[in-house]
Amino acid sequence: MYDYLIVGAGLFGSTFAHQATLKEKKCLVIDRRSHIGGNVYCENVGGINVHKYGAHIFHTNDKEIWDYVNSFVEFNRYTNSPLANYKGKLYNLPFNMNTFYQLWGTKTPDEVRTKIDEQIKASGVTDPQNLEEQAISLVGTDIYEKLIKGYTEKQWGRNAKDLPSFIIKRLPIRYTFDNNYFNDKYQGIPMGGYNKIIEKMLEGSDVKLGVDFFKDRAELVSKCKEVVYTGKIDEYFDFKYGLLEYRSLRFEHEHLDKKNYQGNAVVNYTEKEVPYTRILEHKHFEFGTQPTTVITREYPQEWNKNLEPYYPINDSRNDEISRKYKELAENEPNVIFGGRLAEYRYYDMHQVIGSALSKAKKLIKS
Ligand code: FAD
Ligand code: UDP
Repeated sequence: MYDYLIVGAGLFGSTFAHQATLKEKKCLVIDRRSHIGGNVYCENVGGINVHKYGAHIFHTNDKEIWDYVNSFVEFNRYTNSPLANYKGKLYNLPFNMNTFYQLWGTKTPDEVRTKIDEQIKASGVTDPQNLEEQAISLVGTDIYEKLIKGYTEKQWGRNAKDLPSFIIKRLPIRYTFDNNYFNDKYQGIPMGGYNKIIEKMLEGSDVKLGVDFFKDRAELVSKCKEVVYTGKIDEYFDFKYGLLEYRSLRFEHEHLDKKNYQGNAVVNYTEKEVPYTRILEHKHFEFGTQPTTVITREYPQEWNKNLEPYYPINDSRNDEISRKYKELAENEPNVIFGGRLAEYRYYDMHQVIGSALSKAKKLIKS
């Protein structure tokens, strides 16, 4: 008999398992995939840790969460500074004084402010209601047209006018010459890859891979006092209120017989005509000096039930359905729901860990 059956060996499930183990609870962790780690899983290719499910850069403002992840493995000093390639020309990201100089030749924050204010005024946007209007009201029309519109519409498969504004608010806009993609105090990549963190978190738990909760639900539940569920919330309730939509991705990995392909870990392709959104070169996350390199092209794609659900689509229809599932979840006895899929939220890693730590603190009895 286990205290917890944990469905999903991603960051939420693994953090919860670690906290439960510390309190001497017995956990059975299952995952339908053949490996632990969920979307942070890395595969070693030629000595390079390949982020199999897209670039993962850890960042947080929360010292407790930073200390927690550093208690498993040391982090390096990687700072994310992606570049944008628009029609063959490179621009720095996030939008900062370097980007503005590359676009307009502006050299001072005052010159930039004037330029952006003129464009906002000409656009007529005063009360932004969607991603397009939000973006224009933050950075004006030039940046919107060149660096946001194409990328956003291929990433989400929707017109930018039909997307919520919070998505674009993830990106900083800076009136300094600073290419750091994140504002957070702490940032880095675990030295040796993310798997090391997950392996340590799961020490003391029984782990079974290639096991789908829904194929053997009654048997699995009968072995445990409580369930921690980190899969899709609509699937748990047999899609009773309808299907929640996601955006999926296809990753095309290539191992190249050369030392350095693009000189940076992440290059975004912001025009709509290029079918992928970004190319990753994994060795640069860990300042690798291997003789070969691995790159990944990330192609957004329409999601269906047979594909991996990567990004929740938080529009009004999906938010309304997910609210109904959350009500059911609150009344489901002996089940704790958590993580990107079960909470249907666009969570970063530090937020998933934070959510798992606070649920564990509240719910695991000593
Ligand atoms: P997951 O990692 O999805 O884990 C859930 C697990 O549950 C999966 O392994 C799944 O196989 C398993 N599962 C589901 N259903 C079942 C079932 N029925 N039976 C058995 N197992 C099941 N965050 C950052 O902080 N920085 C970044 O740079 C960053 N980049 C990202 C890039 C991409 C492309 C994506 C998609 C996400 C990115 N994130 C990033 C977010 C990060 O991946 C998530 O916050 C985190 O991995 C979520 O952990 P989780 O445990 O909630 O979910
Ligand atoms: N975005 C953009 N151009 C870029 C990078 C990002 O327009 O070059 C927009 C896009 O809408 C994207 C959002 O900003 O979905 C958030 O970007 P982030 O890099 O945080 O996305 P993630 O890494 O979560 O996919």
